[in-house]
Amino acid sequence: MEKDSLWINFLELIKNKISPICFDTWFKDTKLYSLENGKAKIIVPMSLHKKHFTDNYMDLIIENFNFLTGTNFEFEFLLEEEVDSNKKLKDEESGVPFNNPLQANLNPSYTFDNFVKGTSNNLAYTASLAVAEKPGKAYNPLFIYGNSGLGKTHLMHSIGNYIIKNSNKKVLYVTSERFISDFVNINKKGNNNYVEAFKNKYRSIDVLIIDDIQFLANATQSQQEFFHTFNELHQEGKQIIISSDRSPDDLKLLEERLRTRFNWGLACNVFPPDYDLRIEILNKKLSVHELAKPLSSDVIEFIANNCDSDVRKLEGALNRLFAYTAMFNKEKIDLDVAVEALNDYLVSASYLKNNVQKVKKIVCDYYNISVEEMVSRKRNNYVTLPRQVAMYLCRMITDESFPTIGVEFGGRDHSTVMHACNKIEKELKNNKDFKNVINQLKSKLK
Ligand code: ADP
Ligand code: MG
Repeated sequence: MEKDSLWINFLELIKNKISPICFDTWFKDTKLYSLENGKAKIIVPMSLHKKHFTDNYMDLIIENFNFLTGTNFEFEFLLEEEVDSNKKLKDEESGVPFNNPLQANLNPSYTFDNFVKGTSNNLAYTASLAVAEKPGKAYNPLFIYGNSGLGKTHLMHSIGNYIIKNSNKKVLYVTSERFISDFVNINKKGNNNYVEAFKNKYRSIDVLIIDDIQFLANATQSQQEFFHTFNELHQEGKQIIISSDRSPDDLKLLEERLRTRFNWGLACNVFPPDYDLRIEILNKKLSVHELAKPLSSDVIEFIANNCDSDVRKLEGALNRLFAYTAMFNKEKIDLDVAVEALNDYLVSASYLKNNVQKVKKIVCDYYNISVEEMVSRKRNNYVTLPRQVAMYLCRMITDESFPTIGVEFGGRDHSTVMHACNKIEKELKNNKDFKNVINQLKSKLK
């Protein structure tokens, strides 16, 4: 018998055996919550009921419940809140994520619906949707890579939200930093139970989403743990989704065996949005922006023309524009207002870009290679030296950080840039001719 109707029948029986007022006060608002392992859990409206039932009604309850079920159940009385917190506690203890966005660490506002598709992200979008529809079956792992601000995190959350909405699968989103800190903290406790709990947590889920895997590079032990987690999940056909700022092959500081595995499924690159996509994204963001005011097409084009590197920058421009117009009570946003509001914001980005481009161009001209070759994966001496020279000059002239320069040179690691700078500095000390070359290039840059 279904538990709700069982309880209704039970209440009918009781109703005939006690006064209406007692029935209304004590029994009417009770519910059968669960029947498991010989125990019946009953939800009662107030704490008072617990004591009153235990002290006064146990025989009546047991006798009548036995009459209906043929079994002697033990009884436990709980408040609604206690049932919820009981449940939470248990799930947390075992580390099993809930099948809801919050527990899965998902941001519900990142969905496929509000992700704008274009040529630069088409493959990543389509693969993500395929994985969302058939977790563990389509591509495993799905590896999404590309520069910052191009929608990788958005896509991963979209996959998680989709799966949670359409299935009972347990999803967990974590950044690799979170994975590492969880792992380190658990091990600090030096208690095997916690280590086991950690393992169970990560190995009992159906869909593991791990963002920015590049940060795993310097964490050897966490890498090993991740390796085992990966293997176990993958063997059981559980879906794994990974993002990174560079391709699996370029994650040089990661163990070979992990890099190989990252290529088992599908690795897809997201590129910076082209002009059309930028316009489309701006329009989409405008349609949902809290402070949005209508923008004429020349304002939208102005933003699209000046933010060409990533989507975060586009969003930032809109936020800034609306904040500015609200602050200065601008009724109408025309091109003049937009230029005024965004001047500094756009310049800082293009300043860096222009300078890096300029360095690349001048160095390439001098060594007679193309900019494509310079940022390519090629390692012949005729491209390696100019590349290192250009990295060095960028560091000297633009004052940009090693990671940023790495990104500008084909998404290379910051350690590669550091190595280049050290090498050039050493060479400068020992080689007069080389020093002349560098000076020549520097003067061209001025
Ligand atoms: P990444 O993880 O690649 O650094 P994010 O996913 O955090 O980038 O994206 C940065 C911001 O840009 C987010 O607010 C995201 O919603 C937005 N965004 C990126 N790509 C798109 C897109 N194609 N359509 C809509 N919004 C996007
Ligand atoms: Mg991200």
